Amino acid sequence: MLKGFLKRLAKESPAAKNTVQPIIIPRNEHSISRAAISQNALKVLYRLHGAGYGAYLVGGCVRDLLFGFRPKDFDIATDARPEDVRKLFKNCRLIGKRFRLAHILFGKEIIEVATFRTHHEKAHEQHAKKSHHGMILRDNVYGTIEDDVWRRDFTINALYYNIADFSVVDYTGGMQDIKNKLLRMIGDPEQRFLEDPVRLLRAVRFLGKLSIHVSPETEKLLNQLSHSLQHVSPARLFQEVLKLFQEGATAATFELLHKYRLFEQLFSQTAETLNQPETKKLLDEALINTDARAKEGKTISPAFLLAVFLWRPVLQQSIHLKTEQLPPYAALEKALQSVLQIQAKQLAVPRTLLISVREICMLQHHFNYRYGSKPYRILEHPRFRAAYDLLILRTKAGEPVAEIAEWWTAFHLGDASAREKLLKTGNKPAASKKRRRGFRVHSKS
Ligand code: ATP
Ligand code: MG
Repeated sequence: MLKGFLKRLAKESPAAKNTVQPIIIPRNEHSISRAAISQNALKVLYRLHGAGYGAYLVGGCVRDLLFGFRPKDFDIATDARPEDVRKLFKNCRLIGKRFRLAHILFGKEIIEVATFRTHHEKAHEQHAKKSHHGMILRDNVYGTIEDDVWRRDFTINALYYNIADFSVVDYTGGMQDIKNKLLRMIGDPEQRFLEDPVRLLRAVRFLGKLSIHVSPETEKLLNQLSHSLQHVSPARLFQEVLKLFQEGATAATFELLHKYRLFEQLFSQTAETLNQPETKKLLDEALINTDARAKEGKTISPAFLLAVFLWRPVLQQSIHLKTEQLPPYAALEKALQSVLQIQAKQLAVPRTLLISVREICMLQHHFNYRYGSKPYRILEHPRFRAAYDLLILRTKAGEPVAEIAEWWTAFHLGDASAREKLLKTGNKPAASKKRRRGFRVHSKS
């Protein structure tokens, strides 16, 4: 019976869906406890409710609580307009041009309060606009909770926790999908992916992070529609890529991106080198390490991950340039410039991050210098740790740098006398005779 109900929901048009009655799951039939909700989010919910407005937790936080994860932030949906929200909170800031949102500030924690919005199809032309690819360009009309639910992407992201009675309000069958560990698009999956192709990446993120599955029909679309990511701005893609690789489960996420040919839309140059076993090994090792670090509560450095992703295309190009008689340092510098330039067209990587990536890669060259005072300066470089980690990964991936990596392991762990001894055994590379004057690991910015 429930299956029939869910099928009917999937087929109905957004407008027809507004007549659907929600399932209300009372407090004693779900696992969300107030103890797991941020105190600040509760404060905001109670104050909105006290002022007579509807107030709900919504989106990722409800989903994560139901899956037993700790949400990384708490978003609230309400029928109060942004100006009404501002009147209730002194610590409120209204943001957003495309759609106004209220941010309630509690020190470092920001609680985002959004007024219910309606699906673009219901909205007046003037406020909602689509591109010729079917993508939504503007989507800013206030609505009711019944409207708000249908513009969300997946059923598991469309559950509302109502502060009035601590129930969960479910219009789309999301609760059952959570139980079945199923990722299901609201509405027609093809149309919804096309109107916002970022949903392809969001799908992969949730599949990887939550270890859930997707229906075969939707799975096919992930592959088929991967090209539509080309219509998304590099700035938005970069934001999504950060999220993809910042939540643990990066190894599983990468496998899925690769499987559905989405990875090549984000890192085309890396994708071209994936047929080389060293590239695959380097990425696998890096992502497994990253996930282990995330489990220990350590942060994930975007610069390091980007350097890992780009290292193989950089290396390949620099080898090619060396055969054209460029000295190693110049070849690496030129290769980096070209690879980063092409990458920045796909993802709008901020300049500061690009500089760090460049430094991590250039240090791979400087690691060859194991004499005099230079190794001490390398050790003090802010990117030393990330560069050293990349060096170790390169060894594991089968690049012939094991001897250099061993030397640097001993050097950075050793005491003063061990270091002096190592400097006597360190090789002076042939290229150093011709090397430029000075030490230019730091980028000019
Ligand atoms: P996260 O754990 O990363 O915060 P999230 O699902 O909360 O995941 P947000 O970007 O914070 O992601 O979005 C909040 C909610 O807004 C989502 O749960 C979903 O309901 C809706 N949403 C976000 N992005 C989209 C989108 N591209 N299309 C439709 N709905 C979206
Ligand atoms: Mg969220």
